[in-house]
Amino acid sequence: MRQPVINKQFIKLELSREEERVFRLIADCAYELEIRAYLVGGYVRDQLLKRASKDIDVAAVGSGINLAEMVASQIQPQPVVTVYKNFGTALLKHENFEIEFVGTRKESYQKDSRNPVVEGGTLTDDLMRRDFTINALAISLNQEDEGSLYDLFGGMEDLKKKTIRTPLDPDITFSDDPLRMMRAIRFASQLKFRIDVETFKSISKNKDRIMIISQERISEELNKILLSEKPSVGFDLLFKSGLLKLIFPEIERLYGVEQVDGKGHKDNFYHTLQVVDNVADRSNDLWLLWAALLHDIAKPDTKRFEKGHGWTFHGHEVVGARKTEAIFRKFRLPLNEKMKFVCKMVLLHLRPISLSKDEVTDSAMRRLLFDAGDDLDALMLLCESDITSKNEYKVRHYLRNFELVREKLKEVEEKDKMRNWQPPITGDLIMKTFNRPPGKEIGIIKDAVREAILEGKIANNFEEAFVFMLEKAKEIGWHL
Ligand code: ATP
Ligand code: MG
Repeated sequence: MRQPVINKQFIKLELSREEERVFRLIADCAYELEIRAYLVGGYVRDQLLKRASKDIDVAAVGSGINLAEMVASQIQPQPVVTVYKNFGTALLKHENFEIEFVGTRKESYQKDSRNPVVEGGTLTDDLMRRDFTINALAISLNQEDEGSLYDLFGGMEDLKKKTIRTPLDPDITFSDDPLRMMRAIRFASQLKFRIDVETFKSISKNKDRIMIISQERISEELNKILLSEKPSVGFDLLFKSGLLKLIFPEIERLYGVEQVDGKGHKDNFYHTLQVVDNVADRSNDLWLLWAALLHDIAKPDTKRFEKGHGWTFHGHEVVGARKTEAIFRKFRLPLNEKMKFVCKMVLLHLRPISLSKDEVTDSAMRRLLFDAGDDLDALMLLCESDITSKNEYKVRHYLRNFELVREKLKEVEEKDKMRNWQPPITGDLIMKTFNRPPGKEIGIIKDAVREAILEGKIANNFEEAFVFMLEKAKEIGWHL
């Protein structure tokens, strides 16, 4: 272990007026309470990297909670302070900031939990318990050395060298709290840093410890990887460290190429990562990024080699949509319209391709407009991102085809107004017309009317739909 050496230098931060005001207030309150206060952690790192950051981490040598409460009492209107007694922290929300106050501490860990036994400690103790050198920098807010940077583990140099490294022996850091392995990879992806060789080796070595981490924490890190500029960096590191197989075997299974009769299929893992990067280039919609990650998730389940034809993955979009739901449950992601959106993207991701073939009927267009609704643009973006051929001619050709699909969809939409379309015959109307209670027949008639319009058998207007409804009802023995 490198011995902590206090390497103090003066740092001039570029602060906004609000930051200056609030730091002055924290300093004054700390003085009043006769304790020392420091800016630490992610806030210092992001300041030095000139990244925007709205959470401010403050460490107090003494009670962080008392400091937070005193600071809050000096602000009008008084902000809410949320106290986490168990963690000895307090969160103060003020203007656009979230300021987290913590008392400097020493931590010791048990084998089966990432929650340490905590006791008060010095600033050095506190910086030692932090995960990476770049997160273990502190800047003094105290009168005697205001603006001094405390760099005990070479964090400044690692910031310059763009390196993620643990302050202590990485085996201890990761075994104590295995979430840090995910955080290392997430920071590498988010900040475009590389992970120091020893630190990375230690992740591979300690990977099994990840099993004590809750799914919520893991998915939080996955989300941050997905939202980084080039998410493939993070997923590739998860793969190479062996963590991916443990936390997300469904994705890991996409890796590899099988050969039959000298014919291989593409590596669906690296294809998927390329698709995610392509989406990330154009969008920061987390759920569309999830859709990109999961769009081919069922390829391993549906893979067949058909003689004379080659590799096929029939139905992978349907099985994939089902698996998507299971994955959302496992990772405790929201089971609401976000999940429905991702399932829908996975289910529909081949449809625009089939529309790019020569002979496409208006009814196929209407169906896609109806099925995709407001998510059509997102779907087209996903499909365009799904083109990962290395052959530039092919890429241009496919993109041009999608361009034509977009144009044709627009024409059909203008003609038929199918996007967000509500069929003219509702279940309510059917029940009223025939004076019947709810029942499965209502659904059958309603669906038949909708299908007839989508197929173009009848026009999209109330009169024709009403006549069709009467006919359909007659078929099942209902009369007016
Ligand atoms: P971000 O806010 O982008 O998630 P961050 O580094 O600010 O990144 P926070 O969770 O806000 O992360 O934590 C603030 C600081 O607390 C970190 O910079 C680090 O010093 C420390 N920290 C957070 N989580 C851990 C952990 N699991 N182990 C050790 N130190 C941690
Ligand atoms: Mg933070």
